[in-house]
Amino acid sequence: VFISIEGGEGAGKSTQISALAAYLRARGIDVVLTREPGGTEGAEAIRNLLLGGADDRWGKAGEALLFAAARSDHVEKLIKPALAAGKWVISDRYVDSSRAYQGASLGLGDADIMTLHAIGSGGLLPQRTLVLDLPPDVAAQRLQQRDAGVSDRIGGRSSEFHAKVRAAFLQIAEQEQERVRIINADETAESVTQSLVAELSGLLPE
Ligand code: C5P
Repeated sequence: VFISIEGGEGAGKSTQISALAAYLRARGIDVVLTREPGGTEGAEAIRNLLLGGADDRWGKAGEALLFAAARSDHVEKLIKPALAAGKWVISDRYVDSSRAYQGASLGLGDADIMTLHAIGSGGLLPQRTLVLDLPPDVAAQRLQQRDAGVSDRIGGRSSEFHAKVRAAFLQIAEQEQERVRIINADETAESVTQSLVAELSGLLPE
C-alpha cells in the first residue's frame, strides 16, 4: 500500500507521519517512511540542489524538472521495490506537492506536471493521499514558534503563494475524492492522527 501525506509548511506532517507509522507498526504492518524531494541517494542530492539555494535559482521549469527527476529515482529505487516486497510506503510529500507548488503556485499548470510525472515515474499514484489542511495564519504562527528546521525557501514566499498551494490541494481533493482526503489539521495531534487512520479505511487489514 502506498500512502502520501501532503500539506503546506507548519501543518504537522512530520509529527503525524511518526504517529501514523507507530499505529500501523503496532498492527503488525511493515512500514517504510520516506520523503520528497529525497528518499534515495540520488534524490537527496537533487534535494540539496533544490533547497540549498535561493528560491528562484532554477526557474519554474527547471525546478519542476528537478522535482520530477528526484521522484523518478525515488519511485524506481525505493517505492516500487518496497511495494513489491509487500510493505507499506508512506511518503512525506509526492506528486501532489508538485501540482500545488510548481503547477498551481508557480503557474506551470497541472497538465504539464502530470506529463512530467508520466515520463519520470510512469504516473504512479498512491492508493491514498492525506492532505493536512490548516488556515495559513495558523500555519504561520506554528512556524514562528518552531525555530529549527525551517527551510530558507519559506521565508521568501508570500502569503499569496501559500494560499495558492492550499487552494490547489483542496481542488485536487475535489477532483479525486477516492484517493485524496482533506484532514483538518487545526486540532490536537491525537485527534488529527485519529482522522488520518479513519481515512485509511478499506486499506487496513481486518
Ligand atoms: O516537506 P517540507 O515542508 O520539509 O518541504 C521542504 C520544502 O520544499 C518546503 O519549503 C516546500 O515548500 C518545498 N517544496 C516545493 N515544491 C515541492 C515540494 C516541496 O517547493 N514540490
